[in-house]
Amino acid sequence: MGLNEMELIRYDRQIRISGFGIEGQVKLKKSRVLVAGLGGLGAPAAIYLAAAGVGKLVVVDKERVELSNLNRQILHWTEDLGKTKVESALEKLHRINPEIMVEGIVDEISKENVYKLVENVDVVVDGMDNFKTRFLLNEACVRLGKPFIHAAVYGLEGRLMTIFPGRGPCLRCLIPVEPEEIKPFPVLGPTPAIMASMQVMEVIKVIVGLGEPLIGKLLVFDGSSMEFIKVTIQKSPNCPVCSK
Ligand SMILES: [Zn+2]
Repeated sequence: MGLNEMELIRYDRQIRISGFGIEGQVKLKKSRVLVAGLGGLGAPAAIYLAAAGVGKLVVVDKERVELSNLNRQILHWTEDLGKTKVESALEKLHRINPEIMVEGIVDEISKENVYKLVENVDVVVDGMDNFKTRFLLNEACVRLGKPFIHAAVYGLEGRLMTIFPGRGPCLRCLIPVEPEEIKPFPVLGPTPAIMASMQVMEVIKVIVGLGEPLIGKLLVFDGSSMEFIKVTIQKSPNCPVCSK
């Protein structure tokens, strides 16, 4: 699988990156990424993944576009109110990049379908807004050996960690017990936009083999002071997911 002339031009600026090259672009073209959730994180993540030329995107979300989504879920526009987020995303993603394939699944991620969703992709992007589903994705990714790019946001704060099975802690090492959900929680649009672009940075690094992924480190971003801090996270010897 090579690149056609249009693709060589479309991806020219990233192909020029040292260590990326045509080879890196071909790796992206051959890869499949699951975007779990098409909200504040998943919407901008899907845009950047599509623009970068990830060969196949699978987008999953069960919800419809609501007015209160539009301050941050920039893949969905006012004209999309009432459509499923998947339908809205498919329309836009095809227009952003007709060279890639996008599969949309209107469903809730559950114990019943999570393994099937994860086994058919190479990397999973956490675009969820709750830890119950994040824990399901984390467990399926650990069991199936798929990198899981976790992010979470609240207000002006965001967190990011790359879970690379066999090479570091998992989400349950970081957060052993499901936190209480606050719904609806406050969030400023740029917070998930920043975190989602960093998730896509991690996806591309993992697929292409560039740089060092954020394994065993939690990156915490505080938008109120514009500070980024990195906290080392150890693998828990008693983790119910990854210690066995
Ligand atoms: Zn663990």
